[in-house]
Formats: sequence, structure tokens, C-alpha cells
Amino acid sequence: MDIFAHMERYDYEQLVFCQDKTSGLKAVICVHNTALGPALGGCRLWNYASEEAAIVDALRLARGMTYKNAAAGLNLGGGKAVIIGDARRDKTEALFRAFGRYVQSLGGRYITAEDVGTSPEDMDVIALETEHVCGVSAGTAGSSGDPSPATAYGVYRGIKACCQEAFGDESLKGRTVALQGLGHVGSNVARHLAEDGARLMVTDINPLAVEKAVKDLGATAVTTDEIFDVECDVFAPCALGAVINDDTLPRLKCRVLAGAANNQLKEDRHGDALTARGILYAPDFIINAGGVINVADELEGYNRERAYRKVAAVYDNLMKVFEIAKRENIPTYKAADRMAEERIDTVSRVQRKYLPR
Ligand code: NAD
Repeated sequence: MDIFAHMERYDYEQLVFCQDKTSGLKAVICVHNTALGPALGGCRLWNYASEEAAIVDALRLARGMTYKNAAAGLNLGGGKAVIIGDARRDKTEALFRAFGRYVQSLGGRYITAEDVGTSPEDMDVIALETEHVCGVSAGTAGSSGDPSPATAYGVYRGIKACCQEAFGDESLKGRTVALQGLGHVGSNVARHLAEDGARLMVTDINPLAVEKAVKDLGATAVTTDEIFDVECDVFAPCALGAVINDDTLPRLKCRVLAGAANNQLKEDRHGDALTARGILYAPDFIINAGGVINVADELEGYNRERAYRKVAAVYDNLMKVFEIAKRENIPTYKAADRMAEERIDTVSRVQRKYLPR
């Protein structure tokens, strides 16, 4: 892999290799962009097939965080860390302390948080070595707790924005929402929607989660395959990535696609096809930013009311994306990238003005 050429192409600032013999730590920290502020992004612990796969993942995820944080209106840049290892076998205090010391050595250019394979308790250990960490466990001073309810609240606000754009009315009363995945986020999205009077058609591979939604929220259950054929106003994917693909896209009978899942489009061309079919797509990293907005509030001394006020602005962020899409006549997934890039560029220009020549 030609690392410098890749870094230059996508404008990466820094890639840090971390090795600690005693604890067995092998990690990569990637700082993509700090124009808006320190680079915030989770620390993934994963059994990568190769060192190259770990580096590629760190690079890809860090860049994604630049866009997510910028579009969310946060004064934070994008970064990510990956630790090479098996989350069931390799987690030790020594490992996370060694990682925390590396984070500290960057002097606040990178702020870490939990991600796939790491937990709030792991963040507590990292916090023994660095102040540049958030997402510590619930009950710890300054903790924002489980991010899922905040993500769900943002998704709910986002669905309302989509209804406003698509139907000229943000109300969910009487709207039918097909919801895939009733996990940490999906179950909370379903609750918000039901409270607002939406009719829910739900599915999950876990029958207990479905039963609960039927009993508590009056939802109608459908199979995991039938969900794609449901006649509805909104299809809300809250389970898996790549859910919009060549097989599922022609089956959708909705006017809005808006849910929590990451990487919903299998490929970019599926975003173009949604536009061609007249389906309004809420770009995933815009609508599911509630979790990162909530955890980032820890950096100011966590205040739930303030954090949820910022999460509610997912509505406005989506409206801006729709505005750009209309103005430039581009699909919403491209408009979301443009919104993030415009914000970074503006700030970079302002900063450059004050740089010594
Ligand atoms: P989760 O694991 O708690 O929930 C996922 C649910 O989907 C589970 O109930 C699972 O049984 C179900 N599921 C899996 N395969 C399915 C299938 N084929 N059909 C129907 N249901 C299926 O995860 P979560 O934390 O609720 O996250 C959901 C999605 O939102 C993920 O894509 C995640 O990356 C994304 N996301 C989550 C957060 C957060 O704060 N948790 C933030 C941003 C994005």
C-alpha cells in the first residue's frame, strides 16, 4: 500500500503506529482533519486479517468521522483508532492503559471513545492515562451514558424533517413506518414514532423484540423479508448496512428512506437510483449523528438538556442537506458530503488567514 500517496489524495494529517511489547498493543491512530477542532472518533478493537486491513480501516473510518462531525455542526475534526486483537481474548488493563498513553502523547489532537469491540468500561481504563477520552461508563462523573437513546431521538427528529420535506407536514400521525431492527436504537425510534401516532410495521430476527413492539406499541409484525414490500410512507433501516442494494431497492414502496443503520447504501449508485425513483433519502451519517453529538457534550461537562437540544438539530441539518440537493440538483447523499466540505473549507480559509506567512 502506497500510504503517503493515499494520505495525500484524501488529505490525511497524521497516521500513528502504536506498539507496546509488554501489553501486546498494536494499534493505529488516524487523524484525518482537525480544521474544526480535535479529531474525535471511536477506538475499534478487531481481529484484522492483516496489518494493511487495520490501516485501511483506520483511514476509512477517520475520514468518515470528519464528515459526520462537521455535518453535525460539532467543533470537532475526524479521527479513529484501531487496536489489532480479539475482543473476547485480548482485552487487558495493560493494553488499554498503553493505548491511553499513546492518546495522551498526541496532546489532544485525537479524542477517543468506544466503538465496535470496546466498551464504556474500557474507556474508564483509558481515562486513567489520558483526559482525551469520552464515552466513559454510566455513573462515572461526566458520563453521557448509553448513546443509543440519543441516536434514536435524532433519527426520530430526522424522520420528521423528511416528512416535512416529502409531504409538506412533519406530523407522523397516521403515517405508516416500516422499521427494520428493534435493537438499542430501533426500539427507541419505534417508541418515539408510536407516541406521535405513527402506524408501525416492524421486523427483527429476534422474536422477543418484535413481540415487545407488538404488545407495547401496537405494532404489526412482518417477516424479515416482507419488510421490503411493505406499502409505507417511511422505510427506516435500523439494523444492518448495505440494506439498499440491487435486490431490495426495486421492492421499496415508500416515499422516504430514513433510519439509524450505518452505510445503508451498498454502493453510491444506489443513492442515485433512489433519487431517480423519487424516494427521499436521509443520508445515514447525518440522521444517525445523535450518539456522537451526545457523547461530544462530555467535552464541555455533560449536560443532558443541552446535549439533546443539539441532537434535535438533526432536523435542521437534514433540511440543509435537502436544500443543497435541490439547489445543486444532486442526490442527497452527495449533498451531505458537500455540506460537510463547505463547513470545513470555510473554517480552513478563516484559519489560514491568521496563519503566519
Ligand atoms: P443493535 O445490535 O442493538 O440492534 C440491531 C438489531 O437489528 C438487533 O435487534 C438485531 O436482532 C436486528 N437485526 C439483525 N439482523 C437483522 C435482519 N436481517 N432483519 C431484521 N433485524 C435484524 O444495534 P444498534 O445499536 O441498535 O444499532 C443499529 C444500527 O444503527 C447499526 O447499523 C449501527 O451501526 C447504527 N448506529 C447505532 C448508533 C448507536 O448509538 N447505537 C449510532 C449510530 C449508528
